Amino acid sequence: MFESLSDRLSDVFGRLTKKGALTDSDVSEAMREVRLALLEADVALPVVKDFVAAVKEKAIGQDVVRSVTPGQMVIKIVHDHLVEVLGGTDSPDLDLNAAPPVPIMMVGLQGSGKTTTTGKIAYRLTHRDKKKVLMASLDTRRPAAQEQLKVLGEQAGVATLPIIAGQNPVDIARRALTAARLQGYDVVILDTAGRLHIDEALMQEIEAVKRETNPHEVMLVADSLTGQDAVTVAKQFHDRIGLTGIALTRVDGDGRGGAALSMRAVTGVPLKLMGLGEKLDALEVFHADRIANRILG
Ligand code: GDP
Repeated sequence: MFESLSDRLSDVFGRLTKKGALTDSDVSEAMREVRLALLEADVALPVVKDFVAAVKEKAIGQDVVRSVTPGQMVIKIVHDHLVEVLGGTDSPDLDLNAAPPVPIMMVGLQGSGKTTTTGKIAYRLTHRDKKKVLMASLDTRRPAAQEQLKVLGEQAGVATLPIIAGQNPVDIARRALTAARLQGYDVVILDTAGRLHIDEALMQEIEAVKRETNPHEVMLVADSLTGQDAVTVAKQFHDRIGLTGIALTRVDGDGRGGAALSMRAVTGVPLKLMGLGEKLDALEVFHADRIANRILG
């Protein structure tokens, strides 16, 4: 097991107290521990560097040297800065503030939890917010994908667009929006196809769907356990498609939260939702505080 950052800093400052006065190099030693802990939490290196520099500046500015409990003070500075970089204490939710039917496009790699998250969002909007929701799978490459969403819809008590064989993703998206308009739906969630890796064909397909539907939210679904790969994926999707939010899945797993920090720092896209299990109700708004505590340990 990893030693937690809180324990490490206590160790560092425990030694320092015995030594007496705190010097510049003592603060540097504490920052080395912060740096190591972030790297162990799988935070991307450039993000770690910026983070440590910012925390060091804050620590020095607040005069840790003369603080009675320098360890606690540094831990608080690190914690507060983590929360800030992760998006602050106000949890953002999905933005549905547009004329209905509001299109939401879900993107992400295969296996990230995209279809499950689509179902969870639909379930929440339907049963908690009393919205009329239509889901449509645009995955025409995996034959079982459209069927999977249909089954999920039945479990969730949410309508899915009837499957018509042979249609391409843009055709399906257009049909979903038309059906939603005609049948008075509030929200249409489009579950785009995933791939094992990002490729040009996938990006072109998603771009075409985006042009056709002008989604109000473009949500990347990313697996928190994939660490730095999640960051690369987020950056590529954001550069090419333009994301409005990230849903982090498998937060119930034993990941250390580094992916969340890196994705936010690298893309600037807000983390809006987190998945905490396989069940339909295992979805919450993103809590920066909780992820910060997990990184701190
Ligand atoms: P997709 O290929 O991206 O559409 O992935 P799926 O939605 O089919 O999910 C892949 C697997 O991950 C399924 O077994 C889901 O039940 C599981 N899964 C999705 N989200 C979560 C989550 O937040 N926590 C856990 N533990 N499992 C999840």
